[in-house]
Amino acid sequence: MCDQPKAPVIVAHITYIECPHCDTPQQGFINDPRGGKFTCEACRQDYQVPENAEIDFG
Ligand SMILES: [Zn+2]
Repeated sequence: MCDQPKAPVIVAHITYIECPHCDTPQQGFINDPRGGKFTCEACRQDYQVPENAEIDFG
């Protein structure tokens, strides 16, 4: 008998981050982007994603 419960798996899929400068969605994020610094592909400005940024699982 296998009475060990399986550990729950949480899958979070981040689809995009909106650039704070021009509101253009930046796609292609696979890992949690929080705490990282990125460059907007549209306006070429840098922006930082705060550690406590909210993720909209909408
Ligand atoms: Zn931008």
